[in-house]
Amino acid sequence: MNAIGVDVGGTKIAAGVVTPEGKILDEVRYPTPHSPEKLVEAIAGAVSEVGDGPEVGGVCLAVPGLILAQENKVIFSPNLHAVEGIPLKDELEPKIGLPLTIENDGNAAAWGEFRFGVGSEVDHLVFITLGTGIGAGVITHGVLMRGAQGSGGELGHVTVQATGPRCACGNRGCLEALASGTAIGRRAREAAIEHPDSALGRLAAKRRVLGEDVTELAREGDELALSVLEETGTWLGVGLAGFVNIFNPEIVAVGGGVMEAGELILKAARREVMLRARPPSRDLAEIKVATLGPKSGVLGAAALARDAFTGEYVLGG
Ligand SMILES: [Zn+2]
Repeated sequence: MNAIGVDVGGTKIAAGVVTPEGKILDEVRYPTPHSPEKLVEAIAGAVSEVGDGPEVGGVCLAVPGLILAQENKVIFSPNLHAVEGIPLKDELEPKIGLPLTIENDGNAAAWGEFRFGVGSEVDHLVFITLGTGIGAGVITHGVLMRGAQGSGGELGHVTVQATGPRCACGNRGCLEALASGTAIGRRAREAAIEHPDSALGRLAAKRRVLGEDVTELAREGDELALSVLEETGTWLGVGLAGFVNIFNPEIVAVGGGVMEAGELILKAARREVMLRARPPSRDLAEIKVATLGPKSGVLGAAALARDAFTGEYVLGG
């Protein structure tokens, strides 16, 4: 039977009705309201819209932030405070008339890549998505690693530099603070001040430089932009080397908007993994670009909803 996946992001809500084979039959997108009541209404509206037609067995919400799975709540979400503390299952099930589960958005996207994308042929996958922040999910022995409370797999908030820059979570030197799109923008603005005659420096004199500007200038051959991406890839690799040692994955998939830069970041990351991780894990792990793009959240959430109502992949093992 079909299932509905909802990807609740800081700027938009995407809901899709998805077949067991991972085909999206219908999809809607709405801007994310930033008040709790309007947010619940918008999610319910999006679900009703796509669920009006094909037979559907359940819904899963992919939500940003730290979740308490047993209470079906998000307890901390720096990019979407409106979602914090809402008893999502109790609020939404009566409105939509379908069984509902929730999942961290990184975990849901990882599950999407595992079931339908770059990880569909393996049992051990580490997935990491580089955007404004860093989301992640870990699949080991074909099971999504959630931890005791559903808050596990937060690889973006692993400390990789003890005295590093401040992260959105409050800690210093998280991987997110060193290898996200936000980190690229910050690093580029600092580099532009030191090298005002570079293409990056000239752009920074006109307006605020963002992560995507760096990729564009790097593609045009600007040495400074290339070095910013290289440094970002190095920090990413420091993180990934640790994850390779811990999880011994077959594939490390990297997705998110920052992957527009592709090999300009991944080359340095692979080098760092080879230097720092231990064999045999480092020789097995293939570091690849994720293949589903922004659809991984909806696809993964729908697959998780289906697993919940069919019991096909038993939760937690
Ligand atoms: Zn952090």
